[in-house]
Amino acid sequence: MHRIDVLDESTRLVRVESGASWGAVATALHPYGWAITSGDHGAVGVGGLATAGGIGLLGREQGLTIDRLRAADVVLADGRRLRASADEHPELFWGIRGAGFALGVVTAFEFTAGPVGLLGHARLVHDATDTAEFLQDWAAVAGSAPRDTTAFLTIGQPYGRKVIAQSTILVDSEDPGVIRDRLQPFADLAPSPAQRVGLVDYSDVVSEAGPSSPAYGEPVSRSGLLDRLTPAAARAAARLVTSGESYFFPLRAMGGAIADADPADTAFAHRSAAFQVVATGTEPDVLDRYWEPLRSQLSGLYVSFETDTRPERLAEAFPPDTLARLVALKRRYDPRNLFHDNFDLAPVL
Ligand SMILES: Cc1cc2nc3c(=O)[nH]c(=O)nc-3n(C[C@H](O)[C@H](O)[C@H](O)COP(=O)(O)OP(=O)(O)OC[C@H]3O[C@@H](n4cnc5c(N)ncnc54)[C@H](O)[C@@H]3O)c2cc1C
Repeated sequence: MHRIDVLDESTRLVRVESGASWGAVATALHPYGWAITSGDHGAVGVGGLATAGGIGLLGREQGLTIDRLRAADVVLADGRRLRASADEHPELFWGIRGAGFALGVVTAFEFTAGPVGLLGHARLVHDATDTAEFLQDWAAVAGSAPRDTTAFLTIGQPYGRKVIAQSTILVDSEDPGVIRDRLQPFADLAPSPAQRVGLVDYSDVVSEAGPSSPAYGEPVSRSGLLDRLTPAAARAAARLVTSGESYFFPLRAMGGAIADADPADTAFAHRSAAFQVVATGTEPDVLDRYWEPLRSQLSGLYVSFETDTRPERLAEAFPPDTLARLVALKRRYDPRNLFHDNFDLAPVL
């Protein structure tokens, strides 16, 4: 189930079956000069990301992936198939956009793609050894960038006392002057030992990982949303990074078009979040020791990337009004809780 079909060229309406990868979607839409904002990695599947949120490198311009969704074909727990959209089963359509994992199996999505030309793409390596200060400065630049610019930061394990960070920045412009203007504040943040800037297609940005780069094992990860990167949050994140216990620490800029939607529009309600943050490690207890101080600064939880799916985390993922609507939907469409493998809603049903 990985077909990708253009339904209507004049409205850029695209039907994507849920087994497609985001790399395949980007490649299929490239000849039309279109893109649907997705994650940063082409091997990620359409199904999970498009039912959770979808925080991507065109996010500040296009919103979340779920904001591009116009309709979904769903198989319900009782085997019924139906189509959910703003006009057909609208409450289910609301729930699928942020909590699809609990409500049914989406077999196909209809999205409105956005027009894109060549994009300015940069990878800037930064010396982030003054980690807390660097994080705050980076957040100030990424959070105040124009909507045509979305930046993701990744920090790995420290090298001795050195912390190296990498910004991946996408600028929706073909104009070298505009691209330079958008990138300069990032380049000025800290000494930058390596930089690569070019004009690319969106499909190049999310190109699939080949068979030579498999992923093994079961990582432990924590996933949060931040309305602001406060000094306390930056200090907690710096302690986590310099501890060496997180081998992969991404900070993704949100805001822009993501914040245009009302929190009640979709089951992903955290529209005020300016950043999404993830820490990935190997031992839950060890990672949590460093994550807890950061957690106290979070405004919510993004269900993708979170491996702690205990019921007490539900309240972080879904504010009270959202959770109440979700519970009502669950009682209506999955009263026997068939879909419990991800975050299990049983304790609140
Ligand atoms: C390398 C990498 C990079 C990533 N980058 C980003 C990023 O930039 N932005 C971002 O937002 N996320 C990102 N993610 C997280 C991604 O959104 C989740 O991992 C997502 O669950 C992947 O979807 P999948 O279909 O590939 O996974 P799966 O493992 O197939 O699905 C995960 C869960 O989603 C639910 N689900 C999957 N398909 C369906 C369906 N058709 N109907 C209903 N529920 C379904 C199920 O509960 C399932 O257990 C990244 C993940 C990886 C591994």
